[in-house]
Amino acid sequence: MIVTNRIKKYLIKAVLLLLFSATLAGCAVTYPEDAGVSEETPEKAAGKKSEVEIKDSISHLPVKEEIVLDPDWEYALMSEINTGSATLYRARSDRKGIVIGVNAGHGTAGGEAESVYCHPDRSPKITSGSNPTGSLKAVAVSAGMVFNDGTTEAEVALKAAGSLRDKLLEEGYDVLMIRDGDDVQLDNVARTVIANNKADCLISLHWDGDGQSYDKGCFYIPVPDEIKDMEPVSLHWKNHERLGQELIDGLEKKGCIIYHGRIDPLELTQTCYATIPAVVVELGNGASSHEDSDISRLTDGLFIGLDSFCEMYLPQRTRSLIKTTSSGYLIQVIVT
Ligand SMILES: [Zn+2]
Repeated sequence: MIVTNRIKKYLIKAVLLLLFSATLAGCAVTYPEDAGVSEETPEKAAGKKSEVEIKDSISHLPVKEEIVLDPDWEYALMSEINTGSATLYRARSDRKGIVIGVNAGHGTAGGEAESVYCHPDRSPKITSGSNPTGSLKAVAVSAGMVFNDGTTEAEVALKAAGSLRDKLLEEGYDVLMIRDGDDVQLDNVARTVIANNKADCLISLHWDGDGQSYDKGCFYIPVPDEIKDMEPVSLHWKNHERLGQELIDGLEKKGCIIYHGRIDPLELTQTCYATIPAVVVELGNGASSHEDSDISRLTDGLFIGLDSFCEMYLPQRTRSLIKTTSSGYLIQVIVT
């Protein structure tokens, strides 16, 4: 068959176009939502693009980022103390694409001088507790209890939060540390709202101020029946309870003391404003040991509970992979 130069040119053009389309298709390859995808996968996905090209085409994310309260977030304007910031830590490897909010209870200077509405709709409190039924407002952040040896709850909670953060990061979870130092100027509303917008679930670490001389053990604060119809509690209370139960199961697996006595459900600010699974855990009381080894056992137990909760209840999310380039940038490749 005689092939004219014109036809030849046309055929070459068509072949080139096909090759170009195939390359583009290669770039658009997607991956299963599997945290265990190997590190070289994104490069394969990008059609073996060079590191520089990858760096140019994706977002650069720091390993540590300060998060302030955005006034446009739902309920943000209900907070009174909000000049501080939380810290978002990103895992460097084996990334799960899940952010765990860890709130070291208390630790806000001046927190007891301010008050916040108990409910986002400004309706009065339904149950009695530290504030009686009918109260419109609650203390913005209480000072917390003091251990029998004189150590403050805020100090021990921070130590436990740091220990939990390190374990979570090591296993590929990102961690939103609501309080990352001795003091953070964020009240309980601001803490919850930041977590609502930046984390997938939230746990707040506390020790009970019951004044007993023996270690009471761990428990979580259940949601009172009286507020289960109130928004946003109505949409989330089942997950709050599931998260609480998973944490207690995890603590039990690690041999931590579990409290089996009567637990009064509380109408906590966090519970009333949370739009993600959120729970307050009491990891003992003033008689509990807060030695490093005991704190580590508690945070091992919390980790088991969190890991199990995320596996069972958190919806599948976009997973991401992360790697550090030779220039020191931390880059994230989104895998959908
Ligand atoms: Zn507390």
